[in-house]
Amino acid sequence: MLLQSELARCHACPDMIGPVVHGPPIMSRIYLLGQAPGPHEGKIGKPFAWTAGKTLFRWFEESLGIDEENFRSSIYMSAVARCFPGKAKGGGDRKPSPEEIDRCEKFVRGEIEILQPELVIPVGSLAISRVLGDFGKLDGVIGKKMRAKWHGATVDVIPLPHPSGASTWHRVEPGKSLLLRALDLLKKHPRMRELRSERGEDARSG
Ligand code: SF4
Repeated sequence: MLLQSELARCHACPDMIGPVVHGPPIMSRIYLLGQAPGPHEGKIGKPFAWTAGKTLFRWFEESLGIDEENFRSSIYMSAVARCFPGKAKGGGDRKPSPEEIDRCEKFVRGEIEILQPELVIPVGSLAISRVLGDFGKLDGVIGKKMRAKWHGATVDVIPLPHPSGASTWHRVEPGKSLLLRALDLLKKHPRMRELRSERGEDARSG
């Protein structure tokens, strides 16, 4: 994908810490949108490669029966910003600024134009807001499947909370139950069923 070569060479944001992190250039009708890589993903060279990723892939393995390797090779993994924003003054990772998000948006737009996904999985509040706009509270959108027009494509959207260890939302009610509902919606989505059936997971887990 030419777009990925352009992405890999991008140094447009002076405050971002490289390298650019992105998933492999696979053709997939399912598109996952994260927030931004953390401090370890650049060295490892793939998104969600550290502790939050462990939680995310455990959710997928337990609920969808798709392990990390299969997930990475079947679902396009993207993010609102593709470089590590650095640490925030108050601790934790800095959120990408509106200017950085705008700069990086061209890569998301280009990917959506090429892939024409049918299912988008935004992970965490920032990613959800990029797809759905101002959505209010997580309680109002997690556990629901919505239809949205996004960068010219009409897509199903099933949002997930951010799996970061810093967040407790998905560990306590109602977050715990809403997360399970969201994962069940993902499992039942036609594109996910197709993927699971190609990999023989439907036959094993129903
Ligand atoms: S965050 Fe996006 S736009 Fe900014 S330097 Fe990294 S790849 Fe380029």
